[in-house]
Amino acid sequence: MDHDARALVLLSGGQDSATCLAWALARYGHVETIGFTYGQRHGVEMEARERMRAEIAAQFPDWAGRLGPDIVVDLTGYGALAESALTRDMAFEMDARGLPNTFVPGRNLVFLTMAAAHGWRRRLPVLVTGVCQTDFSGYPDCRQETIDAQARALSLGLDSPVMIDTPLMHLTKGETWALAHELGGDALVDLIVEHSHTCYRGERDQRHDWGYGCGDCPACHLRARGWSEWRAT
Ligand code: ZN
Repeated sequence: MDHDARALVLLSGGQDSATCLAWALARYGHVETIGFTYGQRHGVEMEARERMRAEIAAQFPDWAGRLGPDIVVDLTGYGALAESALTRDMAFEMDARGLPNTFVPGRNLVFLTMAAAHGWRRRLPVLVTGVCQTDFSGYPDCRQETIDAQARALSLGLDSPVMIDTPLMHLTKGETWALAHELGGDALVDLIVEHSHTCYRGERDQRHDWGYGCGDCPACHLRARGWSEWRAT
């Protein structure tokens, strides 16, 4: 626990970023959050991230004292340039380059640049992001090498050290559930199941053991499989 450290968590409202928020609150003295709208097909994630912050503050009083302000940045212009199955109504599939069409080109690079700019003004030199190369091997901007290169570029470009923490980088989805349990026990796991949102289709009518979702899109498949792996251990 570093009481003097100030961090900024990229909070999307999904399972991974919710776990990262808890991880940062357990470790750093002051934690703020940032989110982005870029023309996603539905606003479910935006509601999920607000609920996540409110529930974490209500259920974990120690963490509540460290949780600072939130900001949502409008990147709809970028989203229009980089349209994908997340921003347009199209079927989920792989493209000719072997990338899933849920890939929004440059998304993590843009998000981290925005976060670093906000962090520079707010004196939050540590950025925390839930990127993971284990399960999302199709997303080249989630790789450790990409993140390391960007931390260096941002540190040089801002002339001020920028650290990028990626606590989930080498975890499977099952291990991410285990990490949430380690950080906040059943209460945190229940909170993530109930309030975080992962489904690409924005479906919240169907409740499964692992939370809400269509049960059929790539994001639901990953989340469900991770849950089963964790429950089996
Ligand atoms: Zn789904």
